[in-house]
Amino acid sequence: MKLFFTPGPAQVYPSLERHVLSALNEQIPSISHRSKQYEKIHQSTVETLRMVFGLPEDFHVFFHGSATEIWERLLENCVLKHSAHFVNGSFSERFYKAACTLQLDVHVEQVEMGQGFYEKTLELPASVEMINFTHNETSTGIITSEAYIHSYRDKYPDSLITVDMVSSAPYPRLDWQKVDAAYFSVQKCFGLPAGLGVLFVNNSCIEKAAQKEGMGKYIGTYHSFTEQHKMSLKHQTVETPNVLGIYLLGKICTEMLDEGIETLRTRLFSQSKKLYSFLETHERWKPFTHIEILQSPTVVVANIPEGSQEILAQLAQEGLILGDGYGPMKGKQIRIANFPAVTTEEIEKLIAALSRIS
Ligand SMILES: *Cc1c(COP(=O)(O)O)cnc(C)c1O
Repeated sequence: MKLFFTPGPAQVYPSLERHVLSALNEQIPSISHRSKQYEKIHQSTVETLRMVFGLPEDFHVFFHGSATEIWERLLENCVLKHSAHFVNGSFSERFYKAACTLQLDVHVEQVEMGQGFYEKTLELPASVEMINFTHNETSTGIITSEAYIHSYRDKYPDSLITVDMVSSAPYPRLDWQKVDAAYFSVQKCFGLPAGLGVLFVNNSCIEKAAQKEGMGKYIGTYHSFTEQHKMSLKHQTVETPNVLGIYLLGKICTEMLDEGIETLRTRLFSQSKKLYSFLETHERWKPFTHIEILQSPTVVVANIPEGSQEILAQLAQEGLILGDGYGPMKGKQIRIANFPAVTTEEIEKLIAALSRIS
């Protein structure tokens, strides 16, 4: 069996086989999404998500096809004209580009790959309706801290604040008073097959969508927040959803709760420290950033001056699959996913293998 340290799709939870078999035994893929049986699954997954994330009552849980879809839905539903984007890598840039494609009036704060936002709260145009952050930029392994994101609430109380936590959830400790929307997709930290994006939105987002709709503006033909909200109150979805994915997500959330979210965070943090210490003392390989508060606990990225291709091939021969550098960094870096499904023993095994070939 290979071990996947790739930052999405990623190593799956070892219990996945058992959960898929129980879903098949219960004939989950065949049940109607209008049945009581489905409503129970939906409600149960939403409840476990609420527990994992400490989500308050005024937040709602919507299921989408992917995080990429969620970018478009947030823009369509919550922005009339003006959105702001913090861009420090390929994923945050893609969200920004989606806003441009939708012909919005886009403000962008951009730094080079490998850098981040952490010093001062920046001046944005006052008219900005939605401010978009990426907690963990998967292409670079750079985080934007919760405290930094929260600082924008005080300065821009009338703007909606969104957080892409696709490759770090449930690690970040978001203050739900200080953000309005946050989202992830399940093939990263939840160790599940791709094809399900999860979005949390508060009442302010739904009100904004209703306001836009009331003005006769387009907010989507089916995944509008007003429609999704209405259906979510019945524990249903607008369309035929990824029922199997929703079922499996509930199971993984329960496992995370069994471990304890705080315990899980501590474990991931200490696993990432092992990787960073190894890199900090290495002769040639170095973390992409030395600034500790920017170093991601879930995606560890290292510069490989001699090129990463050979190393990745050698590790693959041992059954260890790592991520290559992303976009312009391809061939120059390695990216290591330290997601919840990866154990401390597996990280130690990887470090031992890296030590041998270095
Ligand atoms: C993977 C990823 C996405 C896109 O997720 P999809 O499920 O492929 O749409 C968005 N943002 C970040 C930070 C990611 O890592």
